[in-house]
Amino acid sequence: MEMNFFAPVRIITGKECVAKNAAEFSALGKKCLIVTGKNSARKCGALSDVQNALESVGVAYEIFDGVEQNPSYKTCMDAANIARSMGAEFVMGIGGGSPLDAAKAVALLAVCPMDAETLFSGKWDTQPLRVAAVGTTAGTGSEVTSVSVITSPEGLKKSFRAPSLYPAVCFGDASYTLSLSAQFTRSTALDALCHCVEAYFNRTTNDICRTFALRGTAILLEMLKKTAECENCVLSFDDREKLYCASLYGGLAISVAGTAFPHAMGYFLSENHGIPHGNACAVYLGEFIEYNIKNAPEDAKEFFDSLGTDKESFASLVNKNLPQINVKLTGMEIEKLAPRFENNKSLNKCYGKADREFAVSLLEKIFGV
Ligand code: NAP
Ligand code: ZN
Repeated sequence: MEMNFFAPVRIITGKECVAKNAAEFSALGKKCLIVTGKNSARKCGALSDVQNALESVGVAYEIFDGVEQNPSYKTCMDAANIARSMGAEFVMGIGGGSPLDAAKAVALLAVCPMDAETLFSGKWDTQPLRVAAVGTTAGTGSEVTSVSVITSPEGLKKSFRAPSLYPAVCFGDASYTLSLSAQFTRSTALDALCHCVEAYFNRTTNDICRTFALRGTAILLEMLKKTAECENCVLSFDDREKLYCASLYGGLAISVAGTAFPHAMGYFLSENHGIPHGNACAVYLGEFIEYNIKNAPEDAKEFFDSLGTDKESFASLVNKNLPQINVKLTGMEIEKLAPRFENNKSLNKCYGKADREFAVSLLEKIFGV
């Protein structure tokens, strides 16, 4: 069996893991820039835990708290300029996927400022600053991937990746996720589910990815049952911890296998219609399962047999957690999106023929007026 799995992140989880492992920070340097969002890192206690931990081991820091959802290239450059002028030796991302992805971009741009086109081309040969990641949502798994998704100056969500962008260490204290709203609890859980399912079915998968993907999916199905039944998503700490671990498993699975068409086709829904990332991808999940039942029937059978469920129960659980997405697209709007799906890396990872024509017909089916 041929496998190739590389995800060099020290993963530390559990209640108060930041305070208990402060020495990890001093190993990364003497000065750091904290990169985070506007409110939630303060609200959930992660920021003060990190500040206390840094102070306890004598690491000096500054805080950049201007990261927005779907972070822009400009925001990352602004933060990188601060990191450079203060002489930061590492970058600490605190938050959901947006601040964590921004932290990776900042770590690179601080060392080597470059225009957006060069950044997304991946054609740079720079050793970024090291990154530490403290997760506050249970979804993206960005803590354990080498990928950063940033919004280009043209308003398009684009990714870049490099082995040097894996965070050196990530901290997962699920207590921080207790303050997540019902909306983001569901959408981030759906994002993690997409990661697991997409990584499971991609051509690029292997048995290690599938092991993470199946374990993650099993936990997420159990949790999505609870979130579907509970209007306000009041979950116990134990359940929050399960969700958080599942998001890490999904992240580990995509870190090697990558994502598939639900992610590639979800980006425009966040860019143009303000749909949260997880919902934007999950809207295609039912179609993705049907697609794989057709194009990878044995894998699909093994997937459902391993989980002890079937496509109807799976789809019903996704739909119960997915709000109505009121997006309608004209033929012209779909044609405008189509070039993005030409020779698209994520579409190419699917079995069968997930090409531009396929993407256009799926958009017509789901969103066509
Ligand atoms: P997010 O955009 O980081 O955050 C969404 C919202 O949730 C923000 O308003 C944020 O507040 C709030 N929030 C975060 N943690 C909270 C907490 N503990 N309590 C209360 N509110 C909280 O959401 P996300 O879904 O985690 O990240 C999505 C981004 O990740 C997308 O840009 C997506 O493309 C990217 N992504 C990256 C990868 C990867 O491998 N790199 C994988 C999948 C997705 P604040 O604004 O105050 O922080
Ligand atoms: Zn995602």
